[in-house]
Amino acid sequence: MTSGQNFEQKSAGESGRLPPVIDGPVLNIAIMGLGNYGHMIADAMKYCKRAKIAGAISGSPSKIKEWQSKYSIPEKNCYTYENFDEVKNNPDIDAVYIITPNSQHHGQCLRVAAAGKHVICEKPMAINATEGQEMVDACKKVGVKLLIGYRMHFEANTLEIIRMRNASEFGAIKFFQGLCGFKIDESAKNRLNYETAGGGAMMDMGIYAINGSRYMVGEEPVWVTAQEMKTDPEMFKERVDESITFQMGFPSGAVASCLSTYAANFLDKFFLLGEKGFAEMQPATGYYPIQAWTHNGKLEMGHDSHQTTQMDQMAMIILDGIKPTIPVDGEEGVKDMKIIDGIYKAVKTGQKVMLNL
Ligand code: NAD
Repeated sequence: MTSGQNFEQKSAGESGRLPPVIDGPVLNIAIMGLGNYGHMIADAMKYCKRAKIAGAISGSPSKIKEWQSKYSIPEKNCYTYENFDEVKNNPDIDAVYIITPNSQHHGQCLRVAAAGKHVICEKPMAINATEGQEMVDACKKVGVKLLIGYRMHFEANTLEIIRMRNASEFGAIKFFQGLCGFKIDESAKNRLNYETAGGGAMMDMGIYAINGSRYMVGEEPVWVTAQEMKTDPEMFKERVDESITFQMGFPSGAVASCLSTYAANFLDKFFLLGEKGFAEMQPATGYYPIQAWTHNGKLEMGHDSHQTTQMDQMAMIILDGIKPTIPVDGEEGVKDMKIIDGIYKAVKTGQKVMLNL
């Protein structure tokens, strides 16, 4: 039981902090990478008002056939990894959502940008900050938008806690704890291979604690320290981290203490402590309804599909120019990549690493 579960349920009042989904043009999106998460995004878009699945990019002709019939995608909007640059000449596709293994994101983003289409890219945006910055620069150069798939940035309980923090309801923030992980098995080949994942649990799960630290504390960290634990060197080969604990310091003096792991289930918890109150979330980042408490009681902000909400909001960011409360742009992704670089360096050197975000 988490500490918040004893509290009497209380409505947080005004629901959600997202701009309403207004009528307007639809963003036509091709999905690149027709794997597990690609399916989830495609299914979620069935319920979107402003985002629509319009195309598919895959190396597998049978998957393309399946997607064509499942999502009514015309042949002319289907591409392979070899020929997707041709999307440039396709007026029926406005954006490409990259949902391939992490190591592929950088090169694919550069090609989509060169084709003049907006890019939505899954997290982690790349495998290091240098790659991430190159993606930002490439999109800027040709004037297309680059957004990172940070679905929690549109989640109602998360946004309510941020509203409370901004209204000083927690007082000065002192501490954040982010615990993120699950027990992986050897079937998750792309996630356990450095060549595809660019790392281990940190790239996949630790990034939620990193990104969460930043949006929950509301500051950018200035230093990081980190320690790695590996109990199964067979499964977790060199450069593929199993578990890492890390700590970050913020300019105000607030600190974060986090765990990223592929070795334990049920690990999805945020805790934010201020001088006047606290917020706790568990699950904090999973797909299913987020449970959140503060010193005032349970938040009842409701639950919408994270992916449907994300895609409608992203369409409005790209087409209407709305600004989300928590940025989801490429620069936001680069900050997380700089912290990941810092964590891996701190693990290697045993030293505190200063960050310059
Ligand atoms: P997956 O392995 O199920 O799917 C990846 C797809 O990419 C597969 O269809 C595979 O065939 C294809 N692919 C293209 N190039 C490849 C290559 N060179 N090597 C191997 N496969 C290649 O993985 P997934 O779970 O869908 O994850 C994909 C991305 O989405 C990852 O970056 C992951 O971090 C991210 N993701 C995000 C969330 C979220 O909640 N935001 C959830 C899950 C996954």
